[in-house]
Amino acid sequence: MNRPKKNCAACGRAFIQQRSSQRYCSEACRRLGYRIGLCNHEDKETDTAIRTFTCARCGKTVKVTDLKDRRQRFCSARCEKLYWKNRKAESRKKDAP
Ligand SMILES: [Zn+2]
Ligand SMILES: [Zn+2]
Repeated sequence: MNRPKKNCAACGRAFIQQRSSQRYCSEACRRLGYRIGLCNHEDKETDTAIRTFTCARCGKTVKVTDLKDRRQRFCSARCEKLYWKNRKAESRKKDAP
């Protein structure tokens, strides 16, 4: 069986793909490709943040890297719970005579 041939995205040489996602003929070319920004998709595991915010409760900087991640104000459900608990406690104090 013939494996598909591809041209290396960095040096342009034809090579035989070992994996369907392979875009470079060698490790050196892969690195070069990354460096010059040809391809950031192979072997992903990017930790490019979609957005960052500061947790409204603990002040930790939260980096959201997943589109499914809906967090916007708190780093965790625990922080969110504590935050609202404190808010309630504070407003009760204010209302007290
Ligand atoms: Zn190459
Ligand atoms: Zn937090």
